[in-house]
Amino acid sequence: MSPILNITGATKRFHTPDGKSVTALDDVSLRVEQNEFVTLLGPSGCGKTTLLRAISGFEGLESGAIEIAGSPVTHLPAHKRPVNTVFQNYALFPHMTIAKNIAYSLDVADTPKKEISERVGKMLDIVGLAGFGDRKINQLSGGQRQRVALARSLIAQPKILLLDEPLSALDKNLRHKMQQELKSLQAEFGIAFVFVTHDQEEALTMSDRIVVLSDGKIQQHGTPEDLYRRPKTEFVARFVGESNLFEGHVVEASSQNALVQIGNGQKVSINKSGLREGVKVKLLARPEDLSVGHNADREGLKFKAKIDQLFFVGADYQILATTHDGLAIKATLRPSAQSRDPIGSPRSEIEFFIDKEALHVIAAEAVHE
Ligand code: ATP
Repeated sequence: MSPILNITGATKRFHTPDGKSVTALDDVSLRVEQNEFVTLLGPSGCGKTTLLRAISGFEGLESGAIEIAGSPVTHLPAHKRPVNTVFQNYALFPHMTIAKNIAYSLDVADTPKKEISERVGKMLDIVGLAGFGDRKINQLSGGQRQRVALARSLIAQPKILLLDEPLSALDKNLRHKMQQELKSLQAEFGIAFVFVTHDQEEALTMSDRIVVLSDGKIQQHGTPEDLYRRPKTEFVARFVGESNLFEGHVVEASSQNALVQIGNGQKVSINKSGLREGVKVKLLARPEDLSVGHNADREGLKFKAKIDQLFFVGADYQILATTHDGLAIKATLRPSAQSRDPIGSPRSEIEFFIDKEALHVIAAEAVHE
């Protein structure tokens, strides 16, 4: 089946008034399947909004092509593309009722009144606002406004829904609730969602696939697990979750394994092919990959450290520590169900262990100097 969205070689440069040129999109190619929830993730200025605007037709491309449902749309104006956008500020009409806001695109298209009223009624039900149709926008909470914006976009039956940081104005609890609602709405409608955020936790929670952008380029795309467990670059490792990165180099390499020596002299054998002797690498361990005490039956890295800070965050303790040779360590530790005693205290000594199976190698060419 052809993808619902196929972008090839999209490039966009902006020219600023002082004569400089900014490459907002640099040869971006991306396929999105029908039904997929894809998130564009990256730091401010990496090109997320420009890519979304290129898909919707609000921004033209310098080169490259965009197809939606197998048809070229690169030169189609925004209103002729089968996509709809939900904006961060919702862009609702405050003087109109909720029902009128939701009906807007159908009204403009001269849809028969009876059909409009049926479809609006159904949308109000779906977004949990049945009975609210006659209220004005300024009589709604932030979450309710967000639902109206979604209903207004979905009623036009777009092939792709584009969402530009739609949850960033909401407080944390409501945001979590809306994340779940968005996911179930997407499943219910069975259309592709392309979602922009710079919040990595939100991206991990919601997406079938995450596209990490930096400086207008796709750094990596994959499932949340792929990006979290197997980042290809240090940039992706750092951007998608908390990380411990240990510098080292390969001292022995075979077809299946590499023996890596890290800065403090410890060696660990990693199951990874394709690494040459002598190359510089970084070993990634996520904070929850660390445990306390050394399991003598297992191979891995161990560090004696002093706890600098310790935060109790409900189920877990988050620990910032410094090893005896000066490495900064981040660990997330869960006390056992039997003993709920605190795990150490600031300035106390602790011994961490990282099983070699939890270590992920990032090769030298992908390591940012
Ligand atoms: P944010 O998370 O801050 O919204 P973003 O990832 O969405 O950032 P874009 O808005 O796509 O980033 O911008 C990408 C780059 O293009 C930035 O360097 C930005 O300054 C530049 N840019 C965007 N729009 C214009 C414009 N109209 N004129 C000049 N430069 C622009």
